[in-house]
This record gives sequence, C-alpha cells and structure tokens, in this order.
Amino acid sequence: MKLVLATHNQGKVAELRAILEPHGFDLEGYDGPEPVEDGTSFVENALIKARAAFKHTGLPSIADDSGLAVEILGGSPGIFTAIWSGSKDNVANRRLLLAQLKDIAVEHRAATFVCTIALVTDDSEISFTGTWPGSIAFEEKGSNGHGYDPVFIPEGFELTAAELEPEVKNSISHRASAVTSLLDYLNSL
Ligand code: IMP
Repeated sequence: MKLVLATHNQGKVAELRAILEPHGFDLEGYDGPEPVEDGTSFVENALIKARAAFKHTGLPSIADDSGLAVEILGGSPGIFTAIWSGSKDNVANRRLLLAQLKDIAVEHRAATFVCTIALVTDDSEISFTGTWPGSIAFEEKGSNGHGYDPVFIPEGFELTAAELEPEVKNSISHRASAVTSLLDYLNSL
C-alpha cells in the first residue's frame, strides 16, 4: 500500500519509511503546497496537513504533529512548542522553558510529550495519539535526539531523552506509540 507523508522534512520521511516499509507500506514524501496550520490542537493540525497532502496527491496521506505539554504551564507550549521563544530556534526554546521553570520544585515539573498522527483516505479520517510522560530537568544534558530532548527526563529514568540511546528513545517515545497505533490500524484493514 502506498502512503504519502505530509512533510517536506526528508529526515521524517526516512525515519517513518524505515518503520513502515517492513510492514509492506511504501512511504512517499510530499512536495505540494503546505497548508496554514491554524488548528487549535495536535489532532486538528495533523488532520489539516494530512488533508492537504490527500487533496494534492489523491493517495492515502499521513501527517504528524507533536509537542510538549508542561503541567505547571497549563499544558503549554502545546501546539506552540516549535515556536515557543518566538521562532523555530531549538536552543532559544529550551532556554526559555528552563528560565520559566527556574524556581519550580522538582515535584511540580511534570511534562508530557505528545505525538498525533492523522491518516486521511478517500473514505476516512482518523488520528492516533501517543504520549510520553516525564518531567522538565533543571539544566540541559545529553547530545542525542533533537528539539527538547536535552531538557526532558522520561518517567522511570534519571537521564534526559538526549542521554538515552536513540534505539531506547525510539521504542518508548510518544512517536513510537502513535506509530504503533497507526500500524495496528493499517494492518487491520
Ligand atoms: P513538529 O511536530 O515536528 O513540528 O515538532 C513540534 C515541536 O515539538 C518541535 O519544537 C520539536 O522539537 C518538538 N518535539 C516533538 N517531538 C520531540 C521529541 O521527540 N523530542 C524533542 N522535541 C520534540
């Protein structure tokens, strides 16, 4: 089965292709117009992107939307995770978050990574959401991963996500869990 991934990010295409290919899914990138992500939730934004790719290609299309929900910030940065500091600067985003939580005690630093994957076909729209609970560290640690990994300590660990081996992160993360649900669904068709 052919699937389009609604992203211009070739890294994401390669990562998901490696997961889906062994299950018989042939994942293609998408080079059509990028829609305005004006949804108010991860689900809405993932659906907006998947719908745009489906409209452009006519093929079953998937899209992901992800971010970090920090409890003491009322669930923010949420859908604004990528631009929390005002731009898509990961270093500035992490610094701002650490500064905001500077005086917050360890027991109040709970946070959850969220990943939603939407699938749009000619007769259905469905989404799958995976979560990864943990807490925000007091300082950056580790050099693996990307984005907020150096400031996120997954539940059950004392290391940040950026200190975990990529294989460990990729087997337990929010993204892993959303992809597993998507695969279960696709395999059931
Ligand atoms: P996007 O959905 O790929 O645009 O990601 C949204 C934002 O969430 C970006 O700032 C990412 O860095 C951040 N993010 C999503 N997943 C992860 C993760 O697994 N680790 C670290 N940051 C993440």
